[in-house]
Amino acid sequence: MITVRELAEKMEVKPNDVIKKLMGLGIFATINQRLDQEAASIVAGDFGYDLKVVAMYKEEELQISGGQKESPEKLKPRPPIVTVMGHVDHGKTSLLDAIRQSRVAEGESGGITQHIGAYQVKTAKGLVTFLDTPGHEAFTAMRARGARVTDIVILVVSAVDGVMPQTIEAIDHAKAAGVPIIVAVNKIDLPGADPQKIRTALANHGLQPEEWGGKTIFQDVSAKKRINLDKLLEMVGLQAEILELKANPERPGHGIVLEARLDPKRGSVATLLVQGGSVKVGDAFVAGLCHGKIKALVDDNGQRVQTAGPSAPVELMGIMGTPQAGDIFSVVSDDRQARDIAEKRQLLNREQQLAHQRHMTLVGLKSQIGGPAAKDLNIVLKADVQGSLQALRDSLEGLSTSECRVRIIHSGIGNVNESDVLLASASDAVTLLFRTEIEPRAQELATRDGVEVRKYQIIYDLIGDVKAALEGLLEPEIVDVVIGKGEVRELFPLKGGGKVAGCFIREGKVVRGGLAKVTRNGASVAEGKIGSLKRFKDDVKEVEKGLECGIQVEGVDFQKGDQLEFVVKESRTRRLSQSPQ
Ligand code: GDP
Ligand code: MG
Repeated sequence: MITVRELAEKMEVKPNDVIKKLMGLGIFATINQRLDQEAASIVAGDFGYDLKVVAMYKEEELQISGGQKESPEKLKPRPPIVTVMGHVDHGKTSLLDAIRQSRVAEGESGGITQHIGAYQVKTAKGLVTFLDTPGHEAFTAMRARGARVTDIVILVVSAVDGVMPQTIEAIDHAKAAGVPIIVAVNKIDLPGADPQKIRTALANHGLQPEEWGGKTIFQDVSAKKRINLDKLLEMVGLQAEILELKANPERPGHGIVLEARLDPKRGSVATLLVQGGSVKVGDAFVAGLCHGKIKALVDDNGQRVQTAGPSAPVELMGIMGTPQAGDIFSVVSDDRQARDIAEKRQLLNREQQLAHQRHMTLVGLKSQIGGPAAKDLNIVLKADVQGSLQALRDSLEGLSTSECRVRIIHSGIGNVNESDVLLASASDAVTLLFRTEIEPRAQELATRDGVEVRKYQIIYDLIGDVKAALEGLLEPEIVDVVIGKGEVRELFPLKGGGKVAGCFIREGKVVRGGLAKVTRNGASVAEGKIGSLKRFKDDVKEVEKGLECGIQVEGVDFQKGDQLEFVVKESRTRRLSQSPQ
């Protein structure tokens, strides 16, 4: 982390010059403001420096995500992790309960199953882990915190009620996260059920049923009457096989905190979803800003266990403090390391709270250049009526070019709600409103997470702003700007060979570091960088019209009478119309 002042000092430039550069990027920073990595590297680059980013802590060693550095022979198949989503009252809770009870009915555990935030079910194709918190809000809230905890989404749609707004929201949330969807068409026991109608409706939202030649698995079920639940589980197993989910159970465990609470008897208790490796009683660990040593582990059957492996949910005791849902959990080598890391994270956390602008904003867009998704502008769009929504979608998507793309990751009619803001936050999107409002809770969330929300009354204003933002994404065009002209009047040979040209500046000026283009007898003969520029014996940065100076240009052998054009390279923002479609 570096402030404007620190960066300026390191480069030996005036802090004000750094601030000006930042303004050019659409970032309005004060001298003591901390800069994010991207902004700092762009500014450093502009001043001719290469920025080397050094991790403050060896965090990356801990956050081995999904077995990246794992050697393939150590990877073993792991159970899929499933989240259930869908519109309210379509049967998410009933489905989760029915699947859980079928397990109890099979006599696997001794009676009452305890809710610990997730549970596992045995199927013909192996274990499946279900997350207990249904709905896309919890899912996206985790994703906004950088945690990827779902392999497969089951989208519950009532065969009686059909596709509803939250059904579409759920689809968009799953798609934005790149998680495959299995559709459970629920309530088929009811007389009015029309599962085919659901297929048609969802096909219109990009979920083509497999039986129609598409890619999405559909399964008709009844959560209440327990119809086809085994088939649904089989489909989950199938989808999991396609995904080839693997992890190395032998390494130190890491995972995600699903829930954490303070229990009056047991102290701080967290539910952990193990993602890779194994956690064992006695392991030292960090979880977000907290650390500890595992005192006890309890599985989803309420049984004490010594160890838990990939995709297993487990309750964990022995944490100092209470971590947050979505925190990353990692086993480390010993207590001391755990404490050190937690303390450093707390420090970093405090500092990060000071840094603003976590997310994409329309003006801040340019500062994102170089990042992986830099050329996409993600948008969540809400409008008052279907007509204007469609018109806006069409116009905005039409702005995409081969270099920068508008991606409307979610759109809908009505006010901006918390779910919209969560999605925008997790996907680094800007939220645009057309003749609608933002709900107070959603506004709070947007303010807290730094999600940009913009309201418009006029279609052209909205489109104009997006256009301007996209233009900021285009690589600038480099143009030659002639800043002055002059001629060679004298030649002074140098002791070590070469010549200095004594020049008279006729127009404009000449600057050191700029280019000189040389014309002799009407023909252009050479061009090169102005290496040295002197007034009498002194090195100078520039020389104005009407004055004389000594110039040396790399690789140019001057003659008397040479005509010079002084040029600097400037980068210019390009218009969208100059970018190929
Ligand atoms: P959620 O809001 O998506 O969690 O929905 P719930 O699981 O709470 O279910 C909403 C209502 O639908 C409840 O009254 C359930 O009893 C009922 N329900 C859920 N699944 C079925 C089903 O398969 N058939 C019938 N007839 N009713 C169901
Ligand atoms: Mg429910």
